[in-house]
Amino acid sequence: MKQSETEIFIRDFQQNLRKILIENPEIETVNHLEGLPRQDLNKILSPKPLSVFIPTKYGGRGGKPVHCLSILETTAYESLPVALMMGICGSLFLDPVGKYGQEKAKAHVFSSFLNDNSLGGLMITEPEFGTDALSMRTSYSTSDKGYLLKGSKHWGGLTGLADFWLVTTRKEKGNGRLARDINLFIVEQSQPEQKIEVEEYYHKLGLFLIPYGLNKIDVTVPSTSKLIPHSSGVKLMMDLLHRSRLRLSGIGLGFIKRMLDESIVHCQQRYVGRKNLLNYDQVQHRLSQLQAWYTINSAMCHYTGRVSGLENNLTTFGLQANSTKAVLTDMMQDAAQSLLQLTGAKGYRRDHIAGRAVADSRPFQIFEGSNDVMYIQIAEAVLKEMKKTKETDLYIFMSEFELTERIAGYYKHILTLKLDFELLQRTKVILGKIVARLITTEFVLDLSAAGFRADLAENAIQVVGNTLAELVSSVSDLQPVYVIEEYRDSSDWKLI
Ligand SMILES: Cc1cc2nc3c(=O)[nH]c(=O)nc-3n(C[C@H](O)[C@H](O)[C@H](O)COP(=O)(O)OP(=O)(O)OC[C@H]3O[C@@H](n4cnc5c(N)ncnc54)[C@H](O)[C@@H]3O)c2cc1C
Repeated sequence: MKQSETEIFIRDFQQNLRKILIENPEIETVNHLEGLPRQDLNKILSPKPLSVFIPTKYGGRGGKPVHCLSILETTAYESLPVALMMGICGSLFLDPVGKYGQEKAKAHVFSSFLNDNSLGGLMITEPEFGTDALSMRTSYSTSDKGYLLKGSKHWGGLTGLADFWLVTTRKEKGNGRLARDINLFIVEQSQPEQKIEVEEYYHKLGLFLIPYGLNKIDVTVPSTSKLIPHSSGVKLMMDLLHRSRLRLSGIGLGFIKRMLDESIVHCQQRYVGRKNLLNYDQVQHRLSQLQAWYTINSAMCHYTGRVSGLENNLTTFGLQANSTKAVLTDMMQDAAQSLLQLTGAKGYRRDHIAGRAVADSRPFQIFEGSNDVMYIQIAEAVLKEMKKTKETDLYIFMSEFELTERIAGYYKHILTLKLDFELLQRTKVILGKIVARLITTEFVLDLSAAGFRADLAENAIQVVGNTLAELVSSVSDLQPVYVIEEYRDSSDWKLI
């Protein structure tokens, strides 16, 4: 099939990025407290990769979901942190500005990204409110110049480096009381009255080229900087976050493909006991898992490519987006751990991709919704539906549920069990993992029907079956166990 101009652009960008990273290894191996120096950033950004996220009307490449996923994928194959930087700018900043920004702000932001290699990020998290983000305390009030924003935000990716921010706030109602709804504002760092002060840079464990830290918000922005929700601000945030969680599949695919390729090459070349690693059953087990994750991740991209256009409202896509995010990021971390295990001591180096991959992929299980919480929410949504229909058999429910009705039959023997509606939270996590794996493996059926290799699809369905069997076997045995917080008395083996 003939490649489009943008597809050729993405391929050339990948080759250029590979060259830059080979010639400048310090980009990834040095812990840049305040982020990658501008000259290195400009090397990466000079071909204007972020144009892919910008509508054609403003001089960009149109923001087609398939192109956005594709540039994230090819970038992640070369470097996970660079891909995350692009994902932050694209999914967390340019997409919401394109969908909800006012005309004047949009024209200015897009031109700045296209002409000045600008970067943008999103600040939601506060020191006191992370998972519980809707209780945030950053507020806004109207002023004669527009809006006054005040508060404290931390862990915003590209802290101190982004030229533009989307800052989430709640309306000040007087006497310190805040409205429940959330509003988002564009804040431009080059404007003195909009400058966000970095109070501290954080020494992060991985993702060395992305700066993180604590920010003080005390800025005034013009009224044109406010994003305009189609209904409520919370729904705007759900649409934004669901799209971003789904689009993480682009980053995941490039990363997992790299883990798979590195693992295969290493196992072909490494001889232990006069045969190469490919000859060992446990090694084959690890590689077949990696290959299954590659397939499932491809299916997530195939699904996301179809549904994640800005014209679609993803507010109600919680189950699909949260399942994709949690399963994907678990697979990313497991893939990195597998590569590190297979490469042995050689991999445990900062200048080896395996060691870096473990540290760099770990926070994906924490940000954009902690995976534990995602799984609990998925389970609660399904339990609510089961309760409504009074169905306690997991298989029967899943075989009639619209997101899993086609895949459930493959696992009938595993899923046939009775569920209690009042589960322990830890059991909900396991149930959430089961449901999320069913939802995302149903995407594999669509991928296969669209012409993807049948042997890879079959392998993925089988590997998921093994995981489901392990998960199901642990559901019924779980008893509540509580931490004994004051455990120190009579618990030192030397003194008893
Ligand atoms: C590398 C990195 C990049 C980030 N990028 C951004 C960004 O660009 N913008 C931004 O705004 N934020 C960002 N964050 C912040 C991230 O979104 C938050 O860390 C995340 O939402 C969790 O909040 P928290 O750290 O305050 O943890 P907490 O809310 O304290 O939660 C910690 C843990 O407690 C457990 N927990 C919490 N609630 C429950 C519950 N109801 N039931 C059971 N267990 C629970 C979970 O295990 C959870 O992981 C980033 C964080 C990291 C590490």
